[in-house]
Amino acid sequence: MPIAFDNSYARLPERFFALTPPTPVPAPRLVKLNDALAAELGLDRDWLASPEGVAMLAGNAIVVGSTPIATAYAGHQFGQFVPQLGDGRAILLGEVVDRSGVRRDIQLKGAGRTRFSRGGDGRAALGPVMREYIVSEAMAALGIPTTRALAFVLTGESVMREEAMRGAILTRVAASHIRIGTFQFFAVRQDGEALRLLADHVIARHYPQAAGAANPYLALFDAVIAAQAELIVRWLLVGFIHGVMNTDNASIAGETIDYGPCAFLDAYDPSTVFSSIDTGGRYAYGNQPSIALWNLTRLAEAMLPLFAEDTDAAVALAQNALGAFAPRYRAAYDAGIARKLGLAGEGEGEADRALGSEFLELLGTQGADFTLSFRHLSRLQAGLAGEEPLRTALGDDPALDEWLARWRERSAETAPGAMLAVNPAYIPRNHRIEAAIAAAQERDDFGPFAELLAVLAQPFEERPEFAEYEMPPKPEERITATFCGT
Ligand code: AMP
Ligand code: MG
Repeated sequence: MPIAFDNSYARLPERFFALTPPTPVPAPRLVKLNDALAAELGLDRDWLASPEGVAMLAGNAIVVGSTPIATAYAGHQFGQFVPQLGDGRAILLGEVVDRSGVRRDIQLKGAGRTRFSRGGDGRAALGPVMREYIVSEAMAALGIPTTRALAFVLTGESVMREEAMRGAILTRVAASHIRIGTFQFFAVRQDGEALRLLADHVIARHYPQAAGAANPYLALFDAVIAAQAELIVRWLLVGFIHGVMNTDNASIAGETIDYGPCAFLDAYDPSTVFSSIDTGGRYAYGNQPSIALWNLTRLAEAMLPLFAEDTDAAVALAQNALGAFAPRYRAAYDAGIARKLGLAGEGEGEADRALGSEFLELLGTQGADFTLSFRHLSRLQAGLAGEEPLRTALGDDPALDEWLARWRERSAETAPGAMLAVNPAYIPRNHRIEAAIAAAQERDDFGPFAELLAVLAQPFEERPEFAEYEMPPKPEERITATFCGT
């Protein structure tokens, strides 16, 4: 057996999923295999790269031990409830237990139609697959909880999107693919038994400490709130915009999942939106904390019958639990910004918060690049550069002098280098991603993709030969809209 699959989700009752084999593709071609992740999963990279391995990654062969399923879920999409979504083009091959004992899903995204495909073709296009591969691996290298990319194959078919694109399949690895929408799927069907089974599965798999609590389901909900609050803070601190924070794209395990029209901020502006379908700006950069709380409120509604038999009592428990989101988020955010600014030691509360918000205000006023500005400041603090680059980025604002004076005082005792370890030099900038996709789509050239992955694998490690990758887009390179490409 090349892979020791063990499929706990497929052992849940049949109404949790549809047994669905992938639909074979005409000409599978392995473009990229993630050797480091394969090793982490205890998988043999040479087998994965062999014809049998590639057949599995393309959905052309089902290996022994795999029970391919499409999972059922519902979800609020842009605020509208859809009682049945489900994996319309993703097929879970099974689970493996990784080198550190953690159970991980292995899923093919773009593997063909399922019972949940609705009008869709069940396929994925080269562009979105490359975007997900690049951004999810960059997030992992930044230390942010995320699904991972194990491999990417071309199918030999073309798929029709805004334009014809090459067909591709991404092999995605996740702690699980259980979403807020999975709970909603059973809640709207008033299937209390399934809700309980799902919650028990999630506790055993992701939050075992909740099992010992007085009210385990409430403890589970508390843990999901904490995971979401911390995840959103991590996003904000690197300038990440998810783009489609629907409840079906919110992982119960607290990973970043379902990379669609996601992108990173260049210039700092909290109202930034890239997604071409987010016309109202619902999922703008700065809205992400309040949307996370909105999504968690939908989860609370779905879980109510688990919290207490009496509805009023259950609502009171849910409201109390939700009340923890804001302080938790605030504390994590303040601590994160303090680290980014090198405000070490005991936080000084109000004064530190003011330093943080005023720096962001300076960036906003000047339309300065978020990532590069923090990196300039980090180099300044480490003694690797003077004030010049920062002044060029932020303009000759007297407010900057005043700010710098206060910041120097507060950051003087921070170890040189501490800021360089939390403020990345390299993020997956949109214009770089688009250039890598264009080279692959138009010229079958995966060189820019490979180089971008290499740069992003060590985001804090400056390499002079990659200095260009730090730079924001020139005006003519700026990409303002990304497409879902579904
Ligand atoms: P997403 O926006 O990728 O999170 O997808 C939202 C829903 O649409 C999920 O149920 C997907 O499985 C489904 N979906 C997206 N693209 C396709 C496609 N090409 N074929 C079938 N279903 C799709
Ligand atoms: Mg989705």
